Amino acid sequence: MSAEMHWPQEATLCEVGLRDGLQNEKTILTIEQKLRLLDAVTASGVRVIEVGSFTHPKAVPQMADTDALCRAMKKLDGVEYRALVPNLKGVQRAYDAGLAKAKLTVSASEAHCLANFKSTPVKMVEGFADCAEFAAKKGMTLSGAVSTAFGCPFQGKVPIGQVENVVEGFLKLGITELSLSDTAGMAHPRQVYELGVRMIEKHPQVRWVMHFHDTRGMALANIVMALQAGVRVFDGAFAGLGGCPFAPGATGNVATEDVIHMLHEMGINSGIDLLKAIETARLAAGFVGRTLAKKWQ
Ligand code: ZN
Repeated sequence: MSAEMHWPQEATLCEVGLRDGLQNEKTILTIEQKLRLLDAVTASGVRVIEVGSFTHPKAVPQMADTDALCRAMKKLDGVEYRALVPNLKGVQRAYDAGLAKAKLTVSASEAHCLANFKSTPVKMVEGFADCAEFAAKKGMTLSGAVSTAFGCPFQGKVPIGQVENVVEGFLKLGITELSLSDTAGMAHPRQVYELGVRMIEKHPQVRWVMHFHDTRGMALANIVMALQAGVRVFDGAFAGLGGCPFAPGATGNVATEDVIHMLHEMGINSGIDLLKAIETARLAAGFVGRTLAKKWQ
């Protein structure tokens, strides 16, 4: 074995705190608070931001104002603003609100899909054909997220074959940016490395993203192994907020500031100012009535 590991010079951090972070918090933020967070996020140097989701307002009331937020926010050049969407209606709402990018999501776990949507993962991806058609017509970009890609509270381990089925479904729709999401915080480093290597070898043309929750304290270790596998894009949420209201027990995205700190210590540039990321985390924690992690106080 070679004594030297190879690391990239750069990695990209997408801030998903405004969506995955806030959607599981009891406190519902005002648009003014969300705009302040957005300003702080862009000021820290983040260039990819998931601003909210176009889901049913009754299902996810924290995201009910995503339309209004998208209309009120100023869009900076060079920053990608996207929202999570569950279906065609969501893509249309994203377009009407002025977004150029939307992220579709499907659970790789058949048990999770059946429990929440009474459908199978493959059928759900096939059902996105209308979204792809709409996006192409309107010049929008779509990305895809495979949730519960590493494990599922309903079914436990998710076989790689189930992940591949969803990935191939997205590829058939012409979607070339795919996120593998550890929705329930069940991934471990060896699994991340093996799935990452396998996916990148099979589909090198895809821009692969990984999305980790720190439920069991393994998110940073998972990111290290994803870097070794060749993944260069990661999601994070300010102050480690959030979880998934549909996945019981899924608490806490990996904290953006933790990822930035680790990357920089490893000599991997993120283009993000750590001190400003910590400021953003402090602001977000204050808005939802939490205290910032001790290490950043
Ligand atoms: Zn998540």
